[in-house]
Amino acid sequence: MLALLMLRSPLSLAAALLAAACGGAPAAPPTPAPTTAAAPAKATPPPVLQDPIIVIGAGAAGLAAAVEAAGAGARVVLIDRSTVFGGHAVVADGGVAMVGTPVQQAVRLTDTPALAAEDLLAWGQDADEAWVRRYASRSRPDVYDWLTAMGVEFTGVTQMPGNRVARYHRTREGGLGLVAPMYRNALALGVELRFSEDVNDLIIDEGRVVGVRTRGIRDGRDRMRRATAVILATGGFESDLERVRQNWPRGVTPPDRVLTGSGRNSRGDGIDLARQARAGLHRMDHQWNIATGLPDPRTPDGERGLEAVVPRSIWLNRLGRRFVDENAGVRVTYPAVLHQPGGYFLAIVDADGARALTIAAPDWGDAGRIDREVLQNSLLVARGNDLRALARAAGIPSARLRRAVAVLTASSSARRC
Ligand SMILES: Cc1cc2nc3c(=O)[nH]c(=O)nc-3n(C[C@H](O)[C@H](O)[C@H](O)COP(=O)(O)OP(=O)(O)OC[C@H]3O[C@@H](n4cnc5c(N)ncnc54)[C@H](O)[C@@H]3O)c2cc1C
Repeated sequence: MLALLMLRSPLSLAAALLAAACGGAPAAPPTPAPTTAAAPAKATPPPVLQDPIIVIGAGAAGLAAAVEAAGAGARVVLIDRSTVFGGHAVVADGGVAMVGTPVQQAVRLTDTPALAAEDLLAWGQDADEAWVRRYASRSRPDVYDWLTAMGVEFTGVTQMPGNRVARYHRTREGGLGLVAPMYRNALALGVELRFSEDVNDLIIDEGRVVGVRTRGIRDGRDRMRRATAVILATGGFESDLERVRQNWPRGVTPPDRVLTGSGRNSRGDGIDLARQARAGLHRMDHQWNIATGLPDPRTPDGERGLEAVVPRSIWLNRLGRRFVDENAGVRVTYPAVLHQPGGYFLAIVDADGARALTIAAPDWGDAGRIDREVLQNSLLVARGNDLRALARAAGIPSARLRRAVAVLTASSSARRC
């Protein structure tokens, strides 16, 4: 039996990671204790901060900032409008690209910063070369060692398109496996947490950010919190589809329907706050959008989407034409999908291919759930017991479907020979 998955429009995922640091006035160091000429030189005590460092956002970026600041001795207040930590990462895969790690060495992979930088620069679009080189050479100590020292466990590596070596490190529990240890460390370091609190304003005094204005989501109370420095780690803007369209990458037309699979609070508030502090904003159109979006079956007519991974499928446009190599990677498939009539495509799978479908989110790991909520959902999937019935159900010419399936079957038999 053949099933047809209709992936109707690209799914827009968080990309514009804006973690702008708005430096406030550093607190004056305390007056040093009087010393005599004969006394041995004492190390200067760390400055006593009158006001805390405020970090807005308890996602991966905000937790990392809070852990670092608290580890360096600062008093840190971490504010999030959500009721829980983790932000977007709790629904993400949590894979981290790193270079020269023990996980790679355990499977006898040789990887070097030079090789990684070459791959990333060749595959990345408009990549910032200095940043790529820095990341490639520092990801082992600054990311891998830092995360594993906090208790993050990496279970293996996967090779992603554009990489000559497997570098995408997986954690045991996806994104949650990444942020939960950070959160535990933040607690251990005494970071003060303020959940269910919305930051709606920066307090700026003579051009310096000196605090924030917040409103409690549960109690409705307005508060003013003074700060030595304020760090914006409020994530991207991909759950505000108007902003997504305003900042759509140049050169490709957005489809009629765009879905978001981003964290629900990724609405770009930090961008407005950063503007208020006259921060420079750049590369706003560098969105990470994907082509294999599937309307979320819980709200099929809504704006939410899921990233479907359909490894063994043939993609046809609504005229029944195959238009791209399905395995070419998102850099190739995404613009190709956008250029199709209606901006969507149909992914054709047989019964084995349907079983291979996965959803890129930790709460969709159960194949039974995918079967019940996606494969059996007639709003998302059309079925046919033969190619003619399938073509009819999908509204595409039967001869084209037959030809596409024949070409693919021939090429996969040739590969097997
Ligand atoms: C399905 C999926 C899979 C993904 N897989 C990967 C992957 O494998 N590897 C990878 O590197 N990336 C992946 N990503 C992207 C990655 O998850 C995000 O880029 C990352 O988690 C963003 O972290 P962040 O801390 O910058 O922002 P967020 O996680 O969005 O955190 C921002 C926090 O700020 C809070 N906030 C926002 N505004 C305010 C305000 N005004 N007041 C108070 N609080 C506020 C929010 O509530 C939120 O908790 C994936 C994304 C998705 C959707």
